[in-house]
Amino acid sequence: MTDKVADADELLLRLRRFRSDYFPTHQQRFQDLVTEGQHPKTLFIGCSDSRVVPYLLTGSGPGELFIVRNVGAFIPPYDGSHGLHGTMAAIEFAVLTLHVERIIICGHSHCGAIRAAYEGAPDEAVALKAWLKLASEALLPVQSSPEAMRKTEKRAVVLQLERLMEYPMVRRDVEAGKLTLHGWHYVIEDGEVHVFDVKQGDFVPASLASNSGTGPYQPYVEHDGQIFSD
Ligand SMILES: [Zn+2]
Repeated sequence: MTDKVADADELLLRLRRFRSDYFPTHQQRFQDLVTEGQHPKTLFIGCSDSRVVPYLLTGSGPGELFIVRNVGAFIPPYDGSHGLHGTMAAIEFAVLTLHVERIIICGHSHCGAIRAAYEGAPDEAVALKAWLKLASEALLPVQSSPEAMRKTEKRAVVLQLERLMEYPMVRRDVEAGKLTLHGWHYVIEDGEVHVFDVKQGDFVPASLASNSGTGPYQPYVEHDGQIFSD
């Protein structure tokens, strides 16, 4: 019977495995998180790409990351008015209610969103087409090549960091020294996250970086602007 279920529905089997194998050894942690509530210190904004696994990258477990993911890890412009916007709502909740101490924006190599920003999306994907415009300022006036894609992915992360600073509650907390911003570019094939270093105006492999983030955030334009000119 069990095998039949497994054949028919692998996902159901995985749900049962979580309950029988994982949960018993972590039950107390889950119970504490229910009793005390969640107090994550980090908002992780990542691309929806299945190869980006925030818990693996950061060695995190339950209760540690407040996560919002979308196509491209993009930040919509803050207009302070209306609209049903999940990413904006998550940022507001994380900063105003959870009082997170850091916000990570994590792009990655071989990002389909960045490729689609160059090559276009299906006509029927009206929301996607509009969404991809959030990367348009990061695009380079060149044919898409592996090098151009890599540069654009990084430029897009910096662009989103800038947009994040347009959110009043983000800017306020950053300027008060309560919140740091972290721009990451995860190179899947190397197993390495490259961290945006504001002072250098470039991304530095985590193995060589002195800091995981940019805080306190200063706009890259006040430095050498290298990220947008190299
Ligand atoms: Zn992506």
